[in-house]
Amino acid sequence: MLTECSASEIHRRILAREVSCEEVVQAHLERIDAGNPKLNAFLCRTPDLALETARAVDARVAQGKELGPLAGVPVAIKDNISVPGAEVTCGSRILKGYRPIYGATVYERMLAAGLPCLGKTNMDEFAMGSSTEHSAFGATSNPWDLERVPGGSSGGSAAAVAAGLAPVALGSDTGGSVRQPAALCGIVGLKPTYGAVSRYGLVAFASSLDQIGPFGRTVEDCARLFDVIRGRDPKDSTSVDYPGRPGGADLSKDLTGLRVGVPEEMLGEGIDAQTRAAVQGAVRQLEKLGAKVGTAHLPHLKYSIATYYVIACAEASSNLARYDGIRYGLRTENAPDLSGLFENTRGEGFNPEVKRRIILGTYVLSSGYYDAYYLRAQKVRTLIRRDFLQAHADFDVLAGPVSPTSAFRKGEKSENPLEMYLADICTLSANLAGIPGLSMPCGFSNTGLPIGLQLLGRPFAESQLFNVAHCLERELGVASRRPAP
Ligand code: GLN
Repeated sequence: MLTECSASEIHRRILAREVSCEEVVQAHLERIDAGNPKLNAFLCRTPDLALETARAVDARVAQGKELGPLAGVPVAIKDNISVPGAEVTCGSRILKGYRPIYGATVYERMLAAGLPCLGKTNMDEFAMGSSTEHSAFGATSNPWDLERVPGGSSGGSAAAVAAGLAPVALGSDTGGSVRQPAALCGIVGLKPTYGAVSRYGLVAFASSLDQIGPFGRTVEDCARLFDVIRGRDPKDSTSVDYPGRPGGADLSKDLTGLRVGVPEEMLGEGIDAQTRAAVQGAVRQLEKLGAKVGTAHLPHLKYSIATYYVIACAEASSNLARYDGIRYGLRTENAPDLSGLFENTRGEGFNPEVKRRIILGTYVLSSGYYDAYYLRAQKVRTLIRRDFLQAHADFDVLAGPVSPTSAFRKGEKSENPLEMYLADICTLSANLAGIPGLSMPCGFSNTGLPIGLQLLGRPFAESQLFNVAHCLERELGVASRRPAP
């Protein structure tokens, strides 16, 4: 079935003229129609856009013209990334009806490379959350168990790829939102190095942490999609000319002599026993493949939750000030005067989690508290970054869990924000340090839920992460296990 093929296989079949890109897109649109009612992974489909791109790809194939490495492979896009003419809601009521007239740079790159956009995927409102339950348009379900969450905030993209509604997808990762849903849905996801991918057209959450990243069912698919989107963009001054090797350049390179560090602090208290065992099992496989394994230390990791939630909320309170009822989306019916219009629009438009973060962020930035909270958090951020610099002096790659547990039940943490924040303990530090992190399946719990392994690399060493992950994927053989349709 076309919807079970990897992205690389779809691309190969289109080039070999075994199937047209239009047929590939149609097959996925039908799969979305069949599977989305129970998953709620897509907020909208964009069939006209997808078919237009597909026909252009088919025309090039017919003319024998050259095509890019993933040409013809349809993509699902998280609903905080602009696709021209398609509503971008960010999972929030406050943007309802907002249709950007321009495309994000990642979208334009996909289009230039011949990758059709299938539609926009569900997410926690403004990417704040770890379960996709905080969406104004209802929760997304995990394809492995519909009673459980797919992770978040890019849960729609991850569930779509895991269930075969899309071969690959884009998400955004500010504190784990690509890696954690990838882990909970049993697929591969990458949080690129800060600056590797343009954020032009991504709705800003916390600008010093946000990165757009790819999802795939295989490491190779994820690496190829990364190669489509990475690189400098004059429209995002934080993006750089990518100095590393292409993501897909070294997939099968031998791992002999590779130094792998397991951060002690990532396998301690709070990590569920089955997750720990699966991660340790994957590390033993790396050893069998020739890697030298040792224990790494990240002494400031324990401060990452406090540090992240101060910095991310501070930046969010500033970034979200633009939703005032004048410029975008929703405008309240109840506007006694101008400040009443602002207040009521924001009061009606944002969910309680977003309001909580705006209030926290405003507080830590206020005069008198700035030094005690925000400035101090920035100093601890530097310490966390130094921990990684030191660990990476001894080890090429660090290996640990992505999430302390496999997918949790819907409702289990949604009433307790602190519990939800604690689930981010293993992912936040990569954003604080700006380094790349990859999540891949490494086993299953005894109830059949996927468990993720996280690989953390040096800045711009994505090709090395893909290399390690690809070799491990072959060895573990877990990528072939898929949820029941
Ligand atoms: N779960 C984290 C948060 O709620 C990370 C979210 C993200 O990466 N966008 O902020």
